[in-house]
Amino acid sequence: MIVVMKPNSTETMIQNMVQRVEGLGLKAHVIVGTERTVIAAIGEKRDEQKEMLAACEEVEQIVPILAPYKVASLEAKPEPTVVEIGKFAAGGPNIGIIAGPCSVESEEQIMESARRVRDAGATALRGGAFKPRTSPYAFQGMKEEGLKLLAAARDETGLAVVTEVMSPDQVELVANYADVLQIGARNMQNYNLLAAVGATRKAVLLKRGPAATIDEFLLAAEYILDKGNTQVMLCERGIRTFEAHTRFTLPLATVPYLHEKTHLPVIIDPSHGTGHANLVSPMCAAAVAVGCDGLIIEVHPDPSKALSDGAQSLTPQVFADAVVQCRKVATALDRQLH
Ligand code: PEP
Ligand code: MN
Repeated sequence: MIVVMKPNSTETMIQNMVQRVEGLGLKAHVIVGTERTVIAAIGEKRDEQKEMLAACEEVEQIVPILAPYKVASLEAKPEPTVVEIGKFAAGGPNIGIIAGPCSVESEEQIMESARRVRDAGATALRGGAFKPRTSPYAFQGMKEEGLKLLAAARDETGLAVVTEVMSPDQVELVANYADVLQIGARNMQNYNLLAAVGATRKAVLLKRGPAATIDEFLLAAEYILDKGNTQVMLCERGIRTFEAHTRFTLPLATVPYLHEKTHLPVIIDPSHGTGHANLVSPMCAAAVAVGCDGLIIEVHPDPSKALSDGAQSLTPQVFADAVVQCRKVATALDRQLH
């Protein structure tokens, strides 16, 4: 990191700072400029060293040289991580399509959804069994019964199962049925939950919190990676802004930005990102155009009867048409849609 001294720092202040840097176990290299003196602090760094130096009166700012996320960074691993489960693949040349209802509602509903999305080209099935709902009076999900139905749908269709886990004490149960553990947007900074899914060897779909910065998002992923689980996918699902024409604002620049920072696959959720079914298909194609590694799309056999998120759910036919469009864009960019 670089310690930038305040203007007019005296020689004594600079020497004191050199001693402080060295006292923290780092090597100090002083660079005297015309307006500012900076001290390069070199060595094995810990987060608290930065905070301690930033707290010093004579320091203007600390400029980190390496990203605070270590394992997630491209510096740590320049080649893209590919998450592969059966026919599903995301990362590198692969674009994985995850589709299905917001919630598992019945055997008939999830089986019909699974068959229809598979026929249209999806390779993974989504469906919440444990639902984080804004209101405690809204449908909370079928819980273990829902997980069993998802597993049955996988047995029949071969689709990988993506489903949300809401708390550390549910991880074992959900991991018994799921192929991918989804961490919901509301739980992005539930560090005990991140550590718990990090301790499994199941793939994780980590959703961005609606008010989280990209650095916070990557540091959340770091909690999972730090426990030894390498199979992490990042999911942009829209952030909260002042804008009200969509449910959230879906920043697609997240995709190329994250590709410059991390080797982890980036998945786009245009369903929660827009909140309106008519906006989902165009955003799917746009997400593929900016280089996403996967899409997670809400599809319901009859959106008007959905127990959650019907307004943003595609019918199976509209979903099938969206996949056709995405495939064309993917082909033009030498990507493979799975
Ligand atoms: C969901 O995938 O249905 C969901 C609840 O998403 P999010 O956590 O992004 O709101
Ligand atoms: Mn939903």
